[in-house]
Amino acid sequence: MASKVYILYTGGTFGMLKTAEGLTPGNWSSIIDYLPSRNGSTFFDNFKNVSFTFDVLDPPVDSSDINPSQWGAIGDLIREHYQSHDGFIIIHGTDTMAYTASALSFILQGLQKPVILTGAQLPIFHPRTDGVVNLSNAIYLAGHEAFGLPKLPEVMICFNDDLLRGNRTSKVSTNDFEGFDSPNYPNLASLEQEIVVNTNVVLHRKEKELKLLEKFSNKVVNVTVFPGYNPQILTRLIKQKEIKGIVLKTFGSGNLPNDKAWEELVTLCKTHKVQVLATTQCPNGGVDIGKYSASNVLVNEVVTDGKDITSEAALTKLMWVIGNFPADERSSTLRESISGEI
Ligand code: ASP
Repeated sequence: MASKVYILYTGGTFGMLKTAEGLTPGNWSSIIDYLPSRNGSTFFDNFKNVSFTFDVLDPPVDSSDINPSQWGAIGDLIREHYQSHDGFIIIHGTDTMAYTASALSFILQGLQKPVILTGAQLPIFHPRTDGVVNLSNAIYLAGHEAFGLPKLPEVMICFNDDLLRGNRTSKVSTNDFEGFDSPNYPNLASLEQEIVVNTNVVLHRKEKELKLLEKFSNKVVNVTVFPGYNPQILTRLIKQKEIKGIVLKTFGSGNLPNDKAWEELVTLCKTHKVQVLATTQCPNGGVDIGKYSASNVLVNEVVTDGKDITSEAALTKLMWVIGNFPADERSSTLRESISGEI
């Protein structure tokens, strides 16, 4: 079977060149020149029965420059090419890849085709680059039909022989080729000599029509609690209506210091309709409000138990929920697993 794969290059180390200012994204045509080719055929000719469409986010960026408007632009490009392609690859910097993967998993409601983010720890111009194998693996999964592989209808990160659910993933290393981990959800596939897909853990959605919900609010803060933290710091922001949501990274399974100031903060959030999403500082495991008495201050309708959500998914989900849903629907939407993130 033939497949059509859409590849969007957004930047990142994958295509970076050393300059006097440090590593900076190169352009797509020079990347194509550096990808291994044989006997006059290009790298992409190696993938028999796959045809490609190439696109570039203009200008390509270090992924620290990615923001919600680019998440929307990527979503729009996927929608534009959705009917004519079998799978989508987004080449992206690793620094914020887990945020973009999470955001796209919320934007692309009803997604029924694979969207795979990949990149590299060493640029394509480096003799030891991991970019070639990462891109090749992503092509197999996006062009699944040409290789007799199952269709994985979700947003994923393909990196160093692993295929991970995008909104379950965090960047865990700045230099290991194993740059990402999905601490609370099994790998969707392993890509060794054989590509083995774990079909039991792949997402099944009720909706079948692609529909985009691409607004994100930036009126959120990410608060990591630490011994001695003063929650009154947030009071002014809430009273002046500067924030609409807080991702609260609690201790352990949802615990906070036994201090009246926390109770006052939660009450203030309720009065001002500021949504609180409780997460944990631990990469493994999750929040379980009520397990310890130290978490009881969070038993309040304005607080959602984030369970085993990653930090990246929690922040993008809160931004997305505030951006797209009225205040009275936010708690219930945060409690739902939108794309398998909890
Ligand atoms: N700073 C780079 C980026 O995120 C890092 C990488 O791609 O590995 O764009």
